[in-house]
Amino acid sequence: MHNPFENAMTQLEKAAQINKNLGAEFIAEMRVPDRDIRISIPVRMDNGALKIFEGYRVQYNNTLGPYKGGIRYHSETDINEVKALAFWMTLKCSVAGLPMGGGKGGITVEPRNLSKGELERLSRGWAQKLADVLGPQKDVPAPDVNTTPEIMTWMNDEFMKITGEKTGASFTGKPVDKGGSEGRDSATGLGGYYVFETLREKLRLPEKCNVAIQGFGNVGSHAAEIFVQNGHTVIAISDSKGGIYDADGLDITKLSEHKKTTGSLANFPKSENISNEKLLELECDVLIPAAFENQITEANAENVKARVVLELANGPTTPEADEILFKKDIPVVPDILANSGGVTVSYFEWDQNLKGEHWSEAEVFEKLKGHLENASEKILAKSLEYNTSLRMGAFLVALERIKENMHA
Ligand code: NAD
Repeated sequence: MHNPFENAMTQLEKAAQINKNLGAEFIAEMRVPDRDIRISIPVRMDNGALKIFEGYRVQYNNTLGPYKGGIRYHSETDINEVKALAFWMTLKCSVAGLPMGGGKGGITVEPRNLSKGELERLSRGWAQKLADVLGPQKDVPAPDVNTTPEIMTWMNDEFMKITGEKTGASFTGKPVDKGGSEGRDSATGLGGYYVFETLREKLRLPEKCNVAIQGFGNVGSHAAEIFVQNGHTVIAISDSKGGIYDADGLDITKLSEHKKTTGSLANFPKSENISNEKLLELECDVLIPAAFENQITEANAENVKARVVLELANGPTTPEADEILFKKDIPVVPDILANSGGVTVSYFEWDQNLKGEHWSEAEVFEKLKGHLENASEKILAKSLEYNTSLRMGAFLVALERIKENMHA
């Protein structure tokens, strides 16, 4: 079993070896979070019993600005996962050029087993217990796996009741009519597409690509729609129950309807049911992991036949798999660049809330495109300068910016 935080530290160590000027003291500081908070959240369940849940907030590093990062609800979420995600958020905000630091939160829970009332009490409980350390200039959470705009509204409301804060800028990813930004929902998928388009020719990919996507949640489904809208062919998609494959291309709108009515992707007309394992090993131009950590490992990396991996999930490729893919000449566009569209629009939301503005969707997308094109070019240049992978290029860009600003 891979510990995501150990994976993250292996990546950090590798970056430190590539640019020795980063220095041992700076790397030592980057190995530890500023704060690592565990909370207990008592919730009155619908049957009258009291259940205590375990929650987390890791405030990793705020050199560049207030901590920023999502909250994950999952039965396997633990402190190591949250720490790794908080570390990657720190680098991601730096790579995207945002005035934000990195954090992450979570609760160990299977949200599907809760009623709506229980979910609301749990979410409000998380915000209550952490209210002291959150706020627009301290730490600004957002959604992640299994957390929704509605959950952000409950948390934001609870936080404002306790603290009297009025701007609404304490949580991002809110619904648009509750102070959310236009475009936040599709921002991670769209941002991934802007990164892909900026790098496509340099990665020697054709104008029209065949794409396989693991995960059909917020990120995977938007990415699928956007790639198809732009003339690419999505040949395979999977979710936690399994996947489907159609060499002629999937109709994403019909697939969403099919999943809504049947509860799974399986038996979609004309397509073949495939396993998640098989999806990762399909021959295609672009493989997009958009589900969870540790999906491409030393056990299956040798079998990956994609020409490029675009990481929209956080931490989907282990360091061992990274080495194997590098040797196979399969570039990996790293998570901290490829999925940074989400946090970039979250930052736009925070900025709009603080200024009392509301930007149009077109304005949001134009700014997002600019940020991500710029970040992609910088990372490509850095990886060429050091003759290293795009992941290490991204780490170096991010770490150098943090180091320049640390203790300034
Ligand atoms: P989500 O909960 O909406 O979707 C997750 C999807 O993964 C679901 O379709 C689920 O069925 C699928 N899945 C779970 N286990 C699977 C497996 N073994 N094989 C295939 N599919 C599986 O979550 P999301 O918001 O789409 O996040 C997905 C990933 O993207 C996470 O790593 C998250 O941290 C990352 N991310 C999300 C955002 C965002 O804005 N939501 C931003 C940056 C990064």
